Amino acid sequence: MGLRRSRGPPPPWLVIMLQMIVILDRYIRKEDTMSPVDILKEVAAEVSICTKCDLCKGRTKAVPGEGNSQANILFIGEGPGLNEDKQGRPFVGPAGQFLEELLASINLKRSDVFITNVVKCRPPNNRDPEPAEIAACNDYLDRQIAAINPGVIVTLGRHSMAKFFGSEKVSVIHGRARRIDGRVCIAMYHPAAGLHQASLKDTIRADFKKIPVIIEQAERMAAESKAKPEPAPIKEEPPQQMSMF
Ligand code: SF4
Repeated sequence: MGLRRSRGPPPPWLVIMLQMIVILDRYIRKEDTMSPVDILKEVAAEVSICTKCDLCKGRTKAVPGEGNSQANILFIGEGPGLNEDKQGRPFVGPAGQFLEELLASINLKRSDVFITNVVKCRPPNNRDPEPAEIAACNDYLDRQIAAINPGVIVTLGRHSMAKFFGSEKVSVIHGRARRIDGRVCIAMYHPAAGLHQASLKDTIRADFKKIPVIIEQAERMAAESKAKPEPAPIKEEPPQQMSMF
């Protein structure tokens, strides 16, 4: 006796579930086979028409981020300001000029690194991005990080810092490095903080000067761990503070 099969269309919940599986499967396999440049272009195109949060209502141009798709260092700020919103490029105002000066102090140019923000559209009157806006935009940032796969992430300001360092205070941990999810993450003040508070400018300059040393230390540690036969598995949590700073 054969199995009795139910007749009629499948229930709606099953249809929706299957559609989601198909979309997810297509999406994962697609980005797996795309080059970093193409993924970054795809993210930029999606950001330019994004309506996932209310920040889209006031934007002139979305600011997905720019730079070297193969960069070893990714800088993550907070959100676009007036100049960035006009031009669609990150860090092009006075804070951007200070960032370029800081990069030059460690022999780097904008084209050597990738620069982006936690939210890609300008918050009104340059207010802080809200948690819901950061959450809505987070997938774009995660895809940028995955595509670039930087060894070092430098957070600029407390909103990008919170993604990697939780509720810690930038005034306490600025200039310090930790290994998080296989990357070296360094917390820094936002360059704009140095423009608003002159006493912080030298602090920010001093923190930037640590970046090459931190990278060198991280590379040495990685090389040493590779050289060891059968290294013990590394437990990633809680995040480890690197010994130097
Ligand atoms: S801030 Fe991010 S999530 Fe919000 S509309 Fe812009 S791109 Fe979309």
